[in-house]
Amino acid sequence: MPQSLTPLLRSRLLSELELLQQDILHYLAADHVAEYQQLHQQLQKHPTTHWPDLMKKWQTPELQEKSQRLELVQAALSQMDMGLYGLCSDCECRIERQLLMNDPARQRCAACETVYHEQLAE
Ligand SMILES: [Zn+2]
Repeated sequence: MPQSLTPLLRSRLLSELELLQQDILHYLAADHVAEYQQLHQQLQKHPTTHWPDLMKKWQTPELQEKSQRLELVQAALSQMDMGLYGLCSDCECRIERQLLMNDPARQRCAACETVYHEQLAE
């Protein structure tokens, strides 16, 4: 991964992270379920890295999807901090540049992604 691409992808990940945070808080605030209001308050008191854990108990399909994406985006950002960004989580080869441009939070190279989805489908 050329170094020059990383700052661009990092800023895309950071804005996605911010949107996700807002999205989750809006989602919780829009629903007038008492438990959601509790969760809403809890989330605001904790750093975003704790959010997926805090949200685990409340998994509606929508929240689950948002929570998983939040985890992925944060994982990609911390990989950047550790200098491990852009490496496939399965085979450790470099993830294709174009794939990272399409989805900066991507964790697998094209080959491993295909295998992964085939295994899921079985
Ligand atoms: Zn791979």
